Order: sequence, then structure tokens, then C-alpha cells
Amino acid sequence: MSKFSHIYIEERAAIYPVAQQVLSRFPGSTRVMIRHYKDVFNRPRQDFRRQKASTKLILAVKPEPFLYPGPEVCEDFGSQNFYYTSPVLNCIYDCDYCYLQGLYTSANIVIFVNIEEFFKAVDRQLESGPLYLCPSYDTDLLALEGIVPYASRWIEFAGTRQGLRIELRSKSANYGAIAHLKPVEQVILAWSLSPSEVARRCERLAPPLKARLKAIMSALQDGWQVRLCFEPLLKVYNWEQVYREFLDEVFSVIPAGRVLDANIGVFRMSKEQFKRISKLRSDTDVFAFPMVCHEGGVVTYEDEKELRDFFYRQLNKYLPKEKIYG
Ligand code: SF4
Repeated sequence: MSKFSHIYIEERAAIYPVAQQVLSRFPGSTRVMIRHYKDVFNRPRQDFRRQKASTKLILAVKPEPFLYPGPEVCEDFGSQNFYYTSPVLNCIYDCDYCYLQGLYTSANIVIFVNIEEFFKAVDRQLESGPLYLCPSYDTDLLALEGIVPYASRWIEFAGTRQGLRIELRSKSANYGAIAHLKPVEQVILAWSLSPSEVARRCERLAPPLKARLKAIMSALQDGWQVRLCFEPLLKVYNWEQVYREFLDEVFSVIPAGRVLDANIGVFRMSKEQFKRISKLRSDTDVFAFPMVCHEGGVVTYEDEKELRDFFYRQLNKYLPKEKIYG
């Protein structure tokens, strides 16, 4: 947390209880009042990589809209009304393949403090029917729980709403921060998992695989519904062996029968983001493989199907096909 040497505060955000809560956690940070978060966040000619080494916090008030339809490239798990919402922009982790570095010009973390307005927007949407919502979308809320307790706020809110299902996706081992909460049937705790070698090389600052598996086991033992997310599958040397041994390791710890479901997604991103990020990231080989651009502007490996089908077959040894998406 010592990295947040500066906290930028929108004038209108300062009075919100969440803003006060966050500020109380960083008494030594320099506070800078600003007119609008975009004055700082959207400034031209920022250096995303340099900012990652010295991330700042920005506290802001989000205007409408609060909910967005889920993008086609994301799995909807059979849900009809799939939406996402972004109470926080950016992430404390630093994955080589993260699409956020192509989406934003700044690596600073924006926390929208008007969480109650997000909840009101969900209530309005629920009037038209059931809703499947991902609030940990442009961030990792569980990883941020010590800074702003939004994972627990969303869990508590979802537990009081019929027709709402939320997925909180994370790479964090920070389950202890929400372990005091009772499991809620409207909430799926989802963990993104990668082979140890991939996590070590490409998921800087994120906990190692073993720590994530331990967090998952604790959540399962407490009775939570847990989803396993195997994405992005990346091309690595000897990938067949790497991914086979990875699944053996995962299911030597996690009882497959207790897992709600899982999804598979081979590395992919929009053409524009791919172009932008591959220019920024000459320090990783993630973008160095032969790629194709499919209809709809999605870039992925030219032999993506081979990787996906192989992984599916391996996963199917542990989980029935009804539990595998993607
Ligand atoms: S955990 Fe997800 S959001 Fe965070 S840096 Fe990695 S890919 Fe990006």
C-alpha cells in the first residue's frame, strides 16, 4: 500500500464515506484536489509502464451509465442478461497480457466512491428481469479489499436481491478479507488460474498458483460457489506438458466435484488493443506468436483451436462437459 504516495481527489468525491474510508488508510499520502478525474486519468502522453511502478489513487464520482452489456468475447455462462460494471478502473497486479494497458492511457487506479448509485442502477435493471453481473471487470476487487471494501459491499448487496447473480473474479489470495461473510447463493467467487511458470513470468505482482489454490480451498470449505477460469491460455514452450501438469496440480488440491463450473479462453483481444499493447510490451513474448484477426476484429493465435481443444480434453478428465464453458 505504500506505493500510493499521492491520492487525487475529485472535489465532489471528498464528502463520500468511501472516500473518507480510503483516505483514512493512507494518512501519509499527499492529497491533491482535482476538478475531474479525467483531468488526471485521461491526460495525453502518459507512460503506462512508468506509472505501474509508482501507482497513484484517484477518488472520483462515476456519472451514468453504471452498467454495460457484457462484450461478445466474454463468456456469459448461459445467462441472458449479462452486464458488467466498473466501480474501480485498473488493477494492482501487472499481467503482461492485460487488456487494460491498451484501454487506458494511465495505470493509476480510479475508485468510484458513489457505490450506492451503482446499486441503484442494478435495482433499476432488475425491474426488467434477472441479471448476471460482473463487478470485478476492469480490476480485481478482492485484491483491493484492503484499500476499498467493494468485494464485501457487492456480496452483501447481492445477498439481498432476488434475480441477481454476480461473479467476482480474482487472481488474489486475499480470501481472508471476506472470510467473515456468510456464503451468498447469488454470488460466484471466480479465480483465474495459470500454470506456475506462466504466473511467475507473465502475472507480475499476482500471487503464485499455490496461494490461489489455498484461497479457493478455504472458500469451498466455507461453502461458497467457486468458478475456475482458465484464461488466457498462453502459448508457452512445451505447452501440452505444461497445461497437462497444471491441471493435475489444480485438481490434486481442489476437489473437482465441489467446483461450480469452469471456463476456457485462449489469449485474445481486440485488434486495436493488440496493436497498442504489442508496441508497449517488447519485454514479453506474449505478443510474439503468429496471430490472426477474426471477423469482428478479435486477434488470437492462428492455431488457437489446437490449444483450446487440447485443454478442453484435459479439463474434461476432471469436469463433465456441462460444467465447462468456452
Ligand atoms: S489481474 Fe486481470 S485486471 Fe489485473 S493486471 Fe492481471 S489481467 Fe489485468
